[in-house]
Amino acid sequence: MYDELMKYEQGFNPDMFLTKVNNIFVLMMNGIMFQNLQSVTSWLNDNMRQKLLTMINDLKHNDLIQMYDELNVKNTYVRKVEILDDRYRIEVEIEARYLDYRLNNTTKQIVSGNSESRVLTINNLVFELKKDHKDLGMVMHCPNCGANIDYNATGYCSFCNQQLPKEDYDWILVDWNEVKR
Ligand SMILES: [Zn+2]
Repeated sequence: MYDELMKYEQGFNPDMFLTKVNNIFVLMMNGIMFQNLQSVTSWLNDNMRQKLLTMINDLKHNDLIQMYDELNVKNTYVRKVEILDDRYRIEVEIEARYLDYRLNNTTKQIVSGNSESRVLTINNLVFELKKDHKDLGMVMHCPNCGANIDYNATGYCSFCNQQLPKEDYDWILVDWNEVKR
């Protein structure tokens, strides 16, 4: 499934990719639950960021908290790997279990869902990586301080600590939809 991709990206590691995908999924679900996208935002493109902000704003507007309690990723499958003109695209399916319910943010009472039995959802996620992406560790100019320096392994300028936009060197989430089973 990865053969074509590996021709372009010799360093691609399927296990590491799936670990990353699962981590981003959990960060995203926690971001919705805590109504704070800070820890996941650099993994999102503008479309996904807007989609999640809209969800969170709707919840806030209705004084609700969406709970994804006891979240657990059961299985992760790669469904499709595509080589596009300017980027690579991988569609992933995540089976997740969690307690899916909503609280009134003021009273903390459950207003919908079930806090005792977990639901199983199928989540379709799409990740993309630019073909002309940079590689961490190569010498680049920091977008913040302009220093001609190495980025460390986490993508931060070691001089001013500015984060290099993830979409310049890593896979980012560009779409998500879920189907409840
Ligand atoms: Zn810098």
